[in-house]
Formats: sequence, structure tokens, C-alpha cells
Amino acid sequence: MTEKVVVIGSGPSGCAASIYAARANLQPLMIEGAFSQENFDLGRPPLGQLMITTEVENYPGFPAGNLESYLKDAVKERSAMLPPHSGHGVSGPELMELMRQQAANFGTQFLGEDVVSVDLSKRPFAIKTSGGQNIEAHSIIIATGARANYLGLESEKKFKNQGVSACAVCDGAMPRFRNRPLVVVGGGDSAMEEATFLTKFASKVYIVHRRDAFRASRIMAERAIEHEKVEVKWNSTIDEILGDEQNGVTGVRIRGTADESQTEELEASGYFCAIGHTPNTDFLGGQLETTDKGYLVWTKPGRTNTSVEGVFAAGDCADDYYRQAITAAGTGCMAALDAERWLAANGIE
Ligand code: NAP
Repeated sequence: MTEKVVVIGSGPSGCAASIYAARANLQPLMIEGAFSQENFDLGRPPLGQLMITTEVENYPGFPAGNLESYLKDAVKERSAMLPPHSGHGVSGPELMELMRQQAANFGTQFLGEDVVSVDLSKRPFAIKTSGGQNIEAHSIIIATGARANYLGLESEKKFKNQGVSACAVCDGAMPRFRNRPLVVVGGGDSAMEEATFLTKFASKVYIVHRRDAFRASRIMAERAIEHEKVEVKWNSTIDEILGDEQNGVTGVRIRGTADESQTEELEASGYFCAIGHTPNTDFLGGQLETTDKGYLVWTKPGRTNTSVEGVFAAGDCADDYYRQAITAAGTGCMAALDAERWLAANGIE
């Protein structure tokens, strides 16, 4: 049997694509990735990057607070029907389980394996999975996301969610980061943005950069450097993240890149790694047009088409700029609509 639509990936973009494709009666198959330790360790778990974060405070529709009483006041006539609410917003894993369930409710089929390779040179397209399955598809939506790059220190793994983060926008407002010194690593726009964002909460923000000049755009670099709470440690790398089990991150030891004998310890309750992301597009083997960093290119303005007809891309694997759950979900919806219209235009019902 040839699938009408196969969605590869199961983060917000893959789930949104599946919800829309299922509701369009396309019976999508979502290849959601294997629930393996390796995928978690590599930062590409099934259901996406939100599975390795805690609270999600910026996804519309899930405000923190006493929602039960809020909704009672706000929606009086329906209050008797509302379920009790725990009061917290929503966590990353909760949000993703809800999205997956929503896709399941409309008839999405799931396969918990990784895609090993695809052949986009023939029609229908051919997909090979880690479990040895060969799947044929008329159209494909690629929604495999991207993973944050880390320096590769053992201590980064040890203190993940205990002060180590790769997303200030997601995690910066947490109590452990408030009124305390924080460290950001990197010299690109992300590092500048993270550092500037963190000044809202931190008592001080160190930017640790391996060279004596930033790669970031001038305006973003200046905004960060000129902030009174920001101090830049030039020509330095992170030697070790310091901490203990009870407190998580308590500081970092930095080492000079010009003079390696030079070390310094900085007190900090958080370490934000902002040295770029890597899109999960290797399995495509160069069959689709990408940027020099491997991000899939949308070939039609305002559409999710890729360089191969019938293949669409959604979410962070095609977006190194916004990289938010809400934008990923939005482009997932767009990809499903684009696929639906493409299938109809090609007489595949
Ligand atoms: P990026 O531009 O690739 O910068 C990565 C930074 O991390 C570089 O400064 C690099 O140092 C450093 N780095 C890389 N590997 C390292 C290592 N192993 N050890 C220490 N430092 C390391 O990535 P990005 O900042 O995530 O930006 C990605 C794209 O998104 C860019 O096009 C950027 O303009 C865009 N963006 C835009 C905005 C905005 O406009 N609001 C915000 C965020 C991102 P070197 O400089 O020495 O190579």
C-alpha cells in the first residue's frame, strides 16, 4: 500500500501536520522516531525538543496560574463543565503528549522508528526505517527539527535541567536564574539575544566567547555589550561547569584560548549554550536543496515546498531563525495544507 502522506518527525510541526492531514482524511503515517536513549542523548527525542525542557510558558493557550478560577470568571456559563486544573501552565512533555493524542484522535497512524534513508528520485517515494520497514509514499512532510549544539562536556549532560540550558527564551524566567549571575557561551546572534534576554532576570550575565570578536550582527552585539549587566570574557572557552547534585550549576571554570594556562572561576546559577543548532536532515543524503548549514530550503515564497515536488518541510529543520514551538506548529499546518492541495492537483485522493 502506498501512503498518501508520510510525516517524518513528531515535534510540534509533525503533530500539527498530522492533525491537519488526518482531518483532511489523508490517513497520515507519522514516523515519530525511536524512543531510544541515543535519540535523547543526541537531543532529538521523539516528540521533539520540548520533551527535554520543563515548563512551556510561551505557547498560546496554556497560561500558568489558577486557571480553574480564571475560567470560572471568564467563561461563567460553561464553568460547571470545566475540569479541575492543576494550576500550572503546561510542561514540554505534557504539551507534546496532548498534541500527539490530538493527531491520534483524527486517525494518524504512528511508527516509533527512525528513518534511515529516503529515495526521492522515484515515485512513489521510498522510505527505509531503522526497524527494516520499506514504506512507499506519494507525498512526504519532513518535520525532523533541529538539535542544539553543546560543547560536549560531561558536565553539560550532568546538569541538564539543573542550570544547563540551550534556550533562554524557554527557561530564563525560572526561579533558579533570578537575581543570580548567569553564563552564556557563543558569539553569534543567538548568544547576544540570549544574553540580552537574560539581563531581565539575572544579576549579571557573562558572555564567554572563544575569539576577540563576535560573529553576531553589529546591532545585536552592541545591545548586549553595552548593557550594564553584561560582561564579556573574550578569548575564553568553558573548561568545566561546576556544581553539585543538590544545587545543580553553581559556576563555570573558563580557560583562555590564547593562553591556555589562564583559568578563572565564575560564580553562576545557569549556563546557556548558544553555539548554534544542527538540523536533523542528514538522512536525506543531499537529495533536497539545503542552506550551507543543512537547513531545508522552502523553494516557493510563503509555502512549504522543497526542491522536490511532493516533498514539504516544516518546523526547525527548515527554520534557523524563529525556532519556536508555535512557529513550528504553524508551518506544520501549512505543510499539511500544501500536501493536501498538491495531492489533489495530481489526482491522488
Ligand atoms: P552562529 O551564527 O553559527 O554562531 C555560533 C557561535 O557559537 C559563533 O560565535 C561560534 O564562534 C560559536 N561556537 C560554535 N562552536 C563553538 C564551540 N565549539 N566552542 C565555542 N564557541 C563555539 O549561530 P546562532 O547564533 O545560533 O545563529 C544562527 C542563525 O540564526 C544566524 O543566521 C543568526 O543571524 C540567526 N539568528 C538571528 C537572530 C535575530 O536576528 N534576532 C537571533 C538568533 C539567531 P565563532 O564565531 O568563533 O565561529
